[in-house]
Amino acid sequence: MTTNEQLFARAQAVIPGGVNSPVRAFRAVGGTPRFISRAHGAYIWDAEDKRYIDYIGSWGPMILGHGHPAVLEAVQKALLEGFSYGAPTAREIELAEAIIAQVPSVEQVRLVSSGTEAGMSALRLARGVTGRSKIVKFEGCYHGHADALLVKAGSGLATFGHPTSAGVPAEVVQHTLVLEYNNVEQLEETFAAQGDEIACVMLEAIAGNMNFVRASVPFVTKLRELCSKHGALLIFDEVMTGFRVALGGAQSVYAKLIPGFKPDMSVFGKVIGGGMPLAAFGGSREVMKQLAPLGPVYQAGTLSGNPVATACGLATLAEITKPGFYEALAAKTQKMVQGIAEAGREAGVPIVTDCEGGMFGFFFANALPHNYNEVMATDKERFNRFFHGMLDRGVYLAPAMYEAGFVSAAHTDADLAATKAAALEALRG
Ligand SMILES: *Cc1c(COP(=O)(O)O)cnc(C)c1O
Repeated sequence: MTTNEQLFARAQAVIPGGVNSPVRAFRAVGGTPRFISRAHGAYIWDAEDKRYIDYIGSWGPMILGHGHPAVLEAVQKALLEGFSYGAPTAREIELAEAIIAQVPSVEQVRLVSSGTEAGMSALRLARGVTGRSKIVKFEGCYHGHADALLVKAGSGLATFGHPTSAGVPAEVVQHTLVLEYNNVEQLEETFAAQGDEIACVMLEAIAGNMNFVRASVPFVTKLRELCSKHGALLIFDEVMTGFRVALGGAQSVYAKLIPGFKPDMSVFGKVIGGGMPLAAFGGSREVMKQLAPLGPVYQAGTLSGNPVATACGLATLAEITKPGFYEALAAKTQKMVQGIAEAGREAGVPIVTDCEGGMFGFFFANALPHNYNEVMATDKERFNRFFHGMLDRGVYLAPAMYEAGFVSAAHTDADLAATKAAALEALRG
């Protein structure tokens, strides 16, 4: 049989690092990545036919679990009708309507093929609409790998950031300000000094790229207030949280806590494609009309709104908009993190957890972190040992402590119980 190790060696000969997206290489946790051969429901199987309970779900999209019958049927039907036309289809309208129906801040959307593309395009549109260059992002938030967004905080307060990747010229990120997540004071100082030059602020309101960290209500309230006051656009990056933490995304969670709250633009991906390459960005009609062919901001894509991807997304949205879907998913997710927390208590290991809808995080720490530095101060060695302990016992968690996890509708009580039992063994072992 082909083993993971053999595949990894072969892969490394022809693909840089053996993977097509870095985190898959297990660099953070060490060891050999598992090459996945098939998936069904809540499970994935590797090249050695070992089964794992899957808490990655393709990093979020597989909210129904793998191979949901209704989604499979829709995709098979779409395939027979053609793979791609490069011309508009009715399904693109249906998907746009389905997204808009759930997210009141969005009046129009444009479909693209990846979250990176959506975030990059939203940024260009925000700059085009405002006629300003500066953008604000927060340390620990990930918005795809566009040049202007691959930036880490500079040394001083509100200085411009430094590129986090080679190949990104300093001039390209000279307009990107990187601030500390949840730091209201720094936000106020930055806007006081340069608010009228800021095109937009991009935020993961429930950040899933530094494990799981919520923006505080005072922070989001202040952000909304300052953006409105200074004419900057507030962009919610909901690539991970959209249709995942709730039908209306993270913004609907904050709208319940902050009366009348709405971002100006939103970016989607992951769940809206149901596992196919599909993403979107949207906002008010006023903002979106600045896009080509109506307006001066250019954006395009050969495979944008792909007919198979939109069929997959639509079939997925049809299932998750059924009454009670999120209540059931949230209950499973809570049970999952409770199991991890209880295992921690029983093993005498401090673990804190949080979750919203079908997204969760856990930390080897005594209190939940509020920003990137606090996340990085949690026990990484312990996480890495735990990760491998769980993997050995057939539970597939994200292979890095700075990634969120995902529960699907296909996870059963037995899966959650098995996960807790594995966690207890892994922590004691
Ligand atoms: C995954 C992700 C992206 C990038 O999406 P890709 O489809 O991987 O390009 C952007 N923003 C957030 C919040 C994400 O989680």
